[in-house]
Amino acid sequence: MDHRRTAVVTGSTSGIGQGVARALAASGMNVMLNGFGDRDAIEAERAAMAEETGADIAHDGADMSRPDEIARFVETTRARFGAIDVVVNNAGVQTVAPIEDFPPDRYDLIMAINMSAAWHLTRLTFAAMKAEGWGRVINVASAHGLVASPFKSAYVMAKHAVIGLTKTVALEGAEHGVTCNAICPGYVLTPLVEKQIPETAKARGLTEAQVKRDVLLAAQPTREFATVEEIGALAAFLCTDAAKQITGAALPVDGGWTAQ
Ligand code: NAD
Repeated sequence: MDHRRTAVVTGSTSGIGQGVARALAASGMNVMLNGFGDRDAIEAERAAMAEETGADIAHDGADMSRPDEIARFVETTRARFGAIDVVVNNAGVQTVAPIEDFPPDRYDLIMAINMSAAWHLTRLTFAAMKAEGWGRVINVASAHGLVASPFKSAYVMAKHAVIGLTKTVALEGAEHGVTCNAICPGYVLTPLVEKQIPETAKARGLTEAQVKRDVLLAAQPTREFATVEEIGALAAFLCTDAAKQITGAALPVDGGWTAQ
């Protein structure tokens, strides 16, 4: 590699995206962060990541639910870093409710951020990766891209769709040095999971402690949460040349959940 590669990681101001961004920066890439949050907190995190890793790190708060902002995000990143070599489609939101009570506006938002944004960002960056003869598209799907749980109809739909996108893009990139894979985490204790504990308690008539023990970790035979560092390490591996024959895969990091 004769230049530092550039990665964009959507939804990297928190949780898994932040862990992936840090791991890619530590592996020698420049990173465009994305996501919402307090401006000063984001700047502090950006500066710390740059200091720790020696990478050039920037942040752009484009709203991944909006195709026009995704297009602007791509232009801003190219202007800032010159190219986009690695795309990590990670931004995601969740709502837990029985389908008959599921708010349609939350359905629309989940489909836009968790599913359509991955299609748009890949659509807008793929030709340049193919022309370069090297690229990586990494979709952060979920164990819920492989199996379902009740009360997560929109999320499970969106994540299954992302695995379909992953397989298609893998085939389109196969002869051009561009791989596309989905990482399928089980439960990782991030703000996204912490927020759904009270909603799940309500939907299932349980206490919050029961939700953690009997719903979340009950799904994972290891009885442990996965960590953002573990997801970051897999993403960094997928960007190495050793991983170039891994494409079109949905890779669970779920403590054995989907083996059952
Ligand atoms: P999180 O809530 O900690 O982080 C979500 C990130 O997405 C934040 O940076 C947030 O600002 C950003 N975001 C939200 N809406 C956005 C929008 N419209 N535009 C741009 N950015 C937006 O969540 P997380 O747990 O780190 O989840 C990250 C991804 O991992 C999601 O796709 C989620 O579905 C997936 N995932 C999480 C788990 C888990 O257990 N935490 C398990 C499987 C899959």
